[in-house]
This record gives sequence, C-alpha cells and structure tokens, in this order.
Amino acid sequence: MQITVNRIVLTVEQGDITAWNGEMIVNASNSGLYGGGGVDGAIHRAGGPRIAEECAEIRCRQGGILPGEAALTSAGLLHFRGVIHTVGPIWKGGSAGEAVVLSRCYQSSLDLACAQGVQSLAFPNISTGIYNFPKELACRTALDSVIQYVRGKDPAELTLRRIDFVCFEQDNAELYRAELEAYS
Ligand code: ADP
Repeated sequence: MQITVNRIVLTVEQGDITAWNGEMIVNASNSGLYGGGGVDGAIHRAGGPRIAEECAEIRCRQGGILPGEAALTSAGLLHFRGVIHTVGPIWKGGSAGEAVVLSRCYQSSLDLACAQGVQSLAFPNISTGIYNFPKELACRTALDSVIQYVRGKDPAELTLRRIDFVCFEQDNAELYRAELEAYS
C-alpha cells in the first residue's frame, strides 16, 4: 500500500525495522536513551555496542532527551546511515497531551532526517508497545503528522523521497493500510 503526497511516497510494510531496505530508521527509545525492549532492543542488538556508546555521549552532553524530541546516532553494525532516537509519550489515559507529544516525535524525527539530507526514512509504531498508546489513535496521529509535515514543505526543501511505516504486528499493518487508503 502506498500513496504519494507532495512527491513523497508513503508506504506501509510489515516486518522487522532492522531489516528494512533504506537510508535511515527511527527508534522508539526512552528519555535516558538506554537500550530497552521492543524495537529499541532489536535495534541495539542488531547494531551492536556502538549505538549505546553514542547514546551515552548524548546523555552526558545533554542529559538524555524529552518525550517528543529526537537525537541522531550512527547505526553501528546496521546498514543504515544513522538511527534517529525519539521518545514517545507513555499513555496515561489521553488527557495528558499524549497525542501532541506523539505528533512531535514524528515532526522532530523528520526535521532531523531533512537536516541530514536523508532520502528514505522508516518509522516504527512509536509508543504502541510498552508505552501502551492505543493503536488506532497512534496510527492516525502518525499519518496526520507526517502528511501535514510533508504537505507544509516546499518540495525543494525536502530531500525525502520515501517514508515507510514499518509495522511489526499484523493488526498495526492492517490499521495503517486502511488509514492510508482513506487518504488516497
Ligand atoms: P514504545 O516504548 O514506544 O511503546 P516498543 O518498542 O515497546 O516502544 O513498541 C513500539 C512498536 O514497535 C510496537 O508496535 C512494537 O510491536 C514494535 N516493534 C517491536 N519490535 C520491532 C521491530 N524489530 N521492528 C519494528 N517494530 C517493532
């Protein structure tokens, strides 16, 4: 499933983001940038210790990152140009601004990717694992945020040509496909 917005192709894939074929991936990390479980664990395991070392440098320099922010490291042993670590909100019922913070995760990751001249970027389903964000709202928030971001830019400013949503779980992949279809 794919759509084109402002000359950028948005796609949905199902699988492991560490095996994705593209230039840069986003990690759903935590404020301390400590390797954890879920997608974060998979990226640190596959990328080796170099990623954790660079996360420790960021921690020393600026004390980690806040929910909604993003930071860049290399990809260690992985075949990517880099990994963008962002911190999603922990779901607390919905009245704590969780959707706004989740939206910022996508915006700040896209800002970083564009600043690096990245052409293809993959997002996991940020916050929908351990952080327990409802999947349907997370999917709509992700797609709305990315589409608004892309629509709001002059194509000349955007190096991105492809943005993939890599869903590990079948139910998320189905949600994304249906939602993307509704946009097309
Ligand atoms: P969070 O703490 O932000 O909820 P998780 O890693 O627990 O982060 O989950 C985020 C999403 O990443 C979940 O939908 C989970 O199924 C998915 N996920 C887990 N492992 C991988 C992987 N290897 N590649 C892509 N997505 C993954």
